[in-house]
Amino acid sequence: MPKVRVAVNGYGTIGKRVADAVVRQPDLELVGVAKTRPDFGARRAVDRGYPLFVAGAGSPEKFAAAGLPVAGRLSELLAKADVVVDASPEEVGRENRALYAAAGLRAVYQGGEEADVAEASFNALANYDAGRGKRSLRVVSCNTTGIARAAAVLLRRWGVKHWEVTLVRRAADPGESKRGPINGIVPTFEMPSHHGPDARTVVPDLSIATTAVVVPTTLMHVHVNHVRLARPPASSSELVAAFRSTPRFHVFAPWEGVDGTPQVMEYARDRAGREPAATADMMENVLWEKGIRLDGEDAYFFQAIHQESIVVPENVDAIRAMFDLAPDGPTSIATTDRALGLGAPARAGAAPR
Ligand code: NAD
Repeated sequence: MPKVRVAVNGYGTIGKRVADAVVRQPDLELVGVAKTRPDFGARRAVDRGYPLFVAGAGSPEKFAAAGLPVAGRLSELLAKADVVVDASPEEVGRENRALYAAAGLRAVYQGGEEADVAEASFNALANYDAGRGKRSLRVVSCNTTGIARAAAVLLRRWGVKHWEVTLVRRAADPGESKRGPINGIVPTFEMPSHHGPDARTVVPDLSIATTAVVVPTTLMHVHVNHVRLARPPASSSELVAAFRSTPRFHVFAPWEGVDGTPQVMEYARDRAGREPAATADMMENVLWEKGIRLDGEDAYFFQAIHQESIVVPENVDAIRAMFDLAPDGPTSIATTDRALGLGAPARAGAAPR
């Protein structure tokens, strides 16, 4: 079967990672990436051999002046593709919709867009089947992806009566220098925050209420979860085992000495050197065994979310669902994760060698 040809429009934090993930998949082909400006990110695309196209109001002359060869304009890239992953800034994806429709292309949008930008919102563990055969999908945001994955684990086994989450949000991505706060904790006065309703776009009827604060860190978000389960298990260890045995979860054992997000990201960087396919990202929901507790029908757990990369495998699965390239969600997830060097859950928690 010919590979599905993928264009990536918007080559920033998410777009560059999605492009890197696409080239590793056995059934997908990256036909090019589009960027508005000739900066170090554009140089990265050229260095990796990705055909580079000029998006939006960008000027091919400026790319040429920077010594960056371009293969054409966005319209030429779209003409070569079966599907476009839009990773342009928040709300620009909606503006790009008309371009994709004119090119007769299927499209995957990101969580910065409102849900009605696409036919359905998507998360591979929570609602893979809802994406099958669709012409457009929206991969929900990083925080919503984390919640949707955890919901998939909890709902199937024990049911959820009600879920309260406090999201401790990173202030900026590591590559950004214009966002803050750099000191202080900033409450989000929208209560509940938009994350709960967003989670319901992939897990309908979920009883969830979210509140959020922004803190001066760039590494990861952390969710503080309190879930009242409908049919609770007998012990915390069943919760730990459920998370540990689910793809796209990584549970740190107490002996690993991972106190917080700094060690999580250090682990990711170390793993990149050890596993040939792995990147220096942490695409899994990260939990701590010590931070998973059952008290009667109440489950408590912390989870950390690497905002720069958690949605990357979901974009790959979204494409697979749209083109019905896999018999089911678990097969697509396994294919994606193998190609990305994920799958640490099997090893996490093993005794030190
Ligand atoms: P980014 O700013 O890092 O990258 C966006 C890229 O798009 C930049 O390279 C920019 O130059 C380019 N661009 C600007 N205008 C364009 C246009 N008209 N056409 C094509 N490209 C254009 O943004 P990001 O963080 O990668 O976010 C992209 C999307 O992913 C947003 O919807 C965002 O909400 C969502 N998202 C971001 C994160 C995160 O934490 N960074 C996590 C999950 C989802």
